[in-house]
Amino acid sequence: MLVEKLGGLSFEIGPIRPPSEGGSRSLLLRVTRNCPWRLCAFCYGIPYRRQKFQLRPVGEVIGDLDQAKAMADLLKEVSLKLGYGGETGESLLKTLLKLDPTLNHHESFLNLFNWLTSGGKTVFLQDADSLITPTQTLAEILRHLKALFPQVERITSYARAKTLTVKPLEDLKLLRSLGLSRLHVGLESGDDEVLKRVNKGVTAREHVEAGRKVIEAGMELSLYVMPGLGSVTLSRQHAENTAKVLNRINPHFVRVRTFLPLPRTPLFDEYKKGSFKLLSPRQCLSEIRLMVEKLEITGRICFDHFVNPSLKNGFPIFRQNYDGYKLPEEKRLLLETVDRALELEESEFRWLEELVGLPCL
Ligand code: SF4
Repeated sequence: MLVEKLGGLSFEIGPIRPPSEGGSRSLLLRVTRNCPWRLCAFCYGIPYRRQKFQLRPVGEVIGDLDQAKAMADLLKEVSLKLGYGGETGESLLKTLLKLDPTLNHHESFLNLFNWLTSGGKTVFLQDADSLITPTQTLAEILRHLKALFPQVERITSYARAKTLTVKPLEDLKLLRSLGLSRLHVGLESGDDEVLKRVNKGVTAREHVEAGRKVIEAGMELSLYVMPGLGSVTLSRQHAENTAKVLNRINPHFVRVRTFLPLPRTPLFDEYKKGSFKLLSPRQCLSEIRLMVEKLEITGRICFDHFVNPSLKNGFPIFRQNYDGYKLPEEKRLLLETVDRALELEESEFRWLEELVGLPCL
């Protein structure tokens, strides 16, 4: 009966979250739906199926939090009744799935279960730009979240740099004081020509303004960069200007995501027509090397994604964990890693072309 009740509770979950939030098994709370921009030529809002952007009514989001809390309380009760001492874990999950196999397809139940099992400390606000939500609305959601789950230590979200440029610093400070502690922002490039060509809708100067503001508000900043986005023609300026912008911001994390054409995007069409050439593995490594060489940041640079350069057998060249390499302490090690890889022939690498068509976000 109690298990049946569990299956009847649910909250909405959006399609994506950063891999590091998956690693932390963060609770996923959908604050908005989809992306308000949907025009980046390498993405086009495809991860959100190009669906229209929506601000979710605050009552709906609060309602989702209430469902998550009811589910957490019920799970504790079930765990006590079944002799698991109120704890969640592998064996309780096995028992529950035996009692009700439909729970195996219950997305929000599984998300909440895994979250509680890993300590219930981190939350990720979905979708692509939660910061576009009016500040007072987001503040109300954060207050409710902390009231229901006081054990939460880290709340993170995606945000567009353009949105951050118009958000007052005081608003960001308020959100920080209510627990929003890290933003994931797609920088992609620090070069204006590349940004314009891929229709990012933001300039290098705006990236710097947005990034500095986030840090000044006391939040951690995780910036995504995309080697290969300038193709062969703009490779050098893409690497150099990206390093320049990163140096001016000094983010806590730089997350490297090598460009891979995503079907049904404008850049995919250009790639198919032959007007956009993918970098060869060695060209890509040289571009990464140039950027790293110019970096003067004191954060971490991470290669936590399968699209980044690897050897033919899929063996990664870089560390795959979510913490990557600490700069400047591990800069030399990172450069040596690239230099060792650059001694190999092109044929010894996995070529990006082999991955085209695979979901890469
Ligand atoms: S990269 Fe981000 S901002 Fe650009 S279209 Fe995709 S989801 Fe939207």
